[in-house]
Amino acid sequence: MNAWSIPRHRSFAHLTWAEIRDMPDKAHAVLVQPIGSTEQHGPHLPLLVDSAIGSAVLAAAMEQLGDDVPALALPPLHYGKSNEHLDFAGTISLEAGTLLAVLMETAASLHRAGFRRLALLNAHGGNRQVVEIAARDIHVRHPEMWVFPLFIWSAPVRAGLDLHAGDDETSLMLAIMPDAVRADAAVTEHPPATLMEGFPDGGIPFAWSSRDLTVSGVVGDARAASAAKGRGILEFQAARLAQEIRAIHAFKPG
Ligand SMILES: [Zn+2]
Repeated sequence: MNAWSIPRHRSFAHLTWAEIRDMPDKAHAVLVQPIGSTEQHGPHLPLLVDSAIGSAVLAAAMEQLGDDVPALALPPLHYGKSNEHLDFAGTISLEAGTLLAVLMETAASLHRAGFRRLALLNAHGGNRQVVEIAARDIHVRHPEMWVFPLFIWSAPVRAGLDLHAGDDETSLMLAIMPDAVRADAAVTEHPPATLMEGFPDGGIPFAWSSRDLTVSGVVGDARAASAAKGRGILEFQAARLAQEIRAIHAFKPG
């Protein structure tokens, strides 16, 4: 599967303006905005991992939806709030306020066009708080618009700490874009023990920059990754997302 290829009939930007204008039942159609990042993912993965994973999960979910569920993927946002990774070359980060403004302004355009259900499908942990603020602020500004801040990793697929560019993300990349994985460069790296005692739970939460946790850029066990595991994660996440999109379509406010 090509991770970037949303089926064409599910792609908002492949439509013409007149087709958008004349779409039936725009108030119940579900628009999905994928939000990724362009940021370091260790020595073995490209910068596009979060964007690729978001698009792949969305494409797989879209394939499970019947024609009775009108849902369209918006053009993916390939920049996010990634300042925790700025010590690693290649990372490109938006300020929180910039990302918030982009989400608010795109939502305003969609609202103007008559859409009323917007799912913000985030694939990068560093975007989470901004996406949740955006969802609330969009709804407050446009009360008829319902906004759903979804996070691909909100249902954990494992018990241990596998925070960044580790087993999960590497396995997914092996499943969806194997040519992009430099498997020989994969490493296993865990944060220093002194930090681990308070992380990620049981201690006082603290704001970290990835240089506090890792030298390689990996936080987890990238060497344990496999394509088979990745296919399992993809299947799990896609089924869950398809269910969420169906529920958003069926959602009856008030
Ligand atoms: Zn990532």
